[in-house]
Amino acid sequence: MRNPDVTMLTPPPRGAPPAAGSAGELLRLVRDGHAATRADLAALTGLARSTVSQRIEALIARNLLVEAGEGPSAGGRPPVVLAFNPRAGVVLAADLGATHSRTAVTDLSGAPLAESRQECDISDGPDVVLPAMLEHFDALLAEAGATPDDVVGVGVGLPGPVEFATGRPVNPPIMPGWDGVRVPERLQERYGAEVPVLVDNDVNIMAAGEHWTRWQSVDDLLYIKVGTGIGCGIVAGGRIHRGAQGAAGDLGHVQVPDSVIAQVAEAGDAPPVCRCGNLGCVEAVAGGAALARRLAERGYDTANTRDVVRLVRGGDADAGMLVRTAGRVLGEVLAAAVNFFNPAVIVIGGDLARAHEQLLAGIREIVYSRSLPLATRHLEIVRSTLDDRAGITGAAAMVIEHVLSPQVVDAWLAGHSEGISA
Ligand SMILES: [Zn+2]
Repeated sequence: MRNPDVTMLTPPPRGAPPAAGSAGELLRLVRDGHAATRADLAALTGLARSTVSQRIEALIARNLLVEAGEGPSAGGRPPVVLAFNPRAGVVLAADLGATHSRTAVTDLSGAPLAESRQECDISDGPDVVLPAMLEHFDALLAEAGATPDDVVGVGVGLPGPVEFATGRPVNPPIMPGWDGVRVPERLQERYGAEVPVLVDNDVNIMAAGEHWTRWQSVDDLLYIKVGTGIGCGIVAGGRIHRGAQGAAGDLGHVQVPDSVIAQVAEAGDAPPVCRCGNLGCVEAVAGGAALARRLAERGYDTANTRDVVRLVRGGDADAGMLVRTAGRVLGEVLAAAVNFFNPAVIVIGGDLARAHEQLLAGIREIVYSRSLPLATRHLEIVRSTLDDRAGITGAAAMVIEHVLSPQVVDAWLAGHSEGISA
């Protein structure tokens, strides 16, 4: 299961599709609430009752299903109700940011069993950061009453571009020493080569977390992280869209027109230079670092995004107006994205979203006036409810949806067939 063709939220695209009614598919039907008894499963799949029973026994033997009492009788003997057992294993999740990280142990429903947040400088490099992460995992496993043998998968978010198929960072700008590092293999040395380790860009896992927690009913969602910089995670057709080179969603470096920059710049200001080297990127105009710098130039004591948010929430009119204007600038770029992609929901997260009233007002003002009416008719623009837990939630969700996908469950049962009583 190393370097899996992984999937978010739906079965993997490649490989043989699971046979209709395979054990993995029966598990999915129970997990999704479509079936609760063997009779339900037989009716839904058209399989013989004996076949269903045999596959259910295999799932029960592997602890993935449990019998949870009796359901209402339809006349005869009351049927046994089947339930997914989220304690069949644990998942490790890490969201590594530029300056701090969050690590968690969850069960197979995504419920956190233990979680912690640490200061962590990603620029210390993988030889410092990865061993520290393993130590945090060890402590959290102990706290959760679990052992490394219980780990069925690991999900990691990194603050830079990642080649998802191999889990390797690719030229990450703020992560010296990380380029090409085999993150999955490093973690598999600890947890075993058969334990899948999925690594993705932090904004993608945040988008996955928001989608999994609150928006599973929509297929098309944009998650915008507005922090020091600006990034975007895309859920298209129910799965994370990474693009041909994994560079999809790099919204922060879209250039905004001079007329828009003029809304935020003082007369005579030099055009804003972005950390990517280009002029006039939306991040260099409306990102948290840019706003903090602009306020500092006006005499405020603002070093970072959180300082800007503190001013806004304290009622400072200047700072509030600046964040609203930043929302308008971001809205210019999002209006084009809405016409192009037609999302059902745009979730705004990141540190600057803590000043959400001003930020969302600016975004909504422009998006609803600039985008096509058909594209905005049912569009919701909302603030993240997970806040800085979006990443850790998505990292766990990514792993859970992978390890419980019918293909992986079926392969796992086949590999353990000697352990299953027929
Ligand atoms: Zn840029």
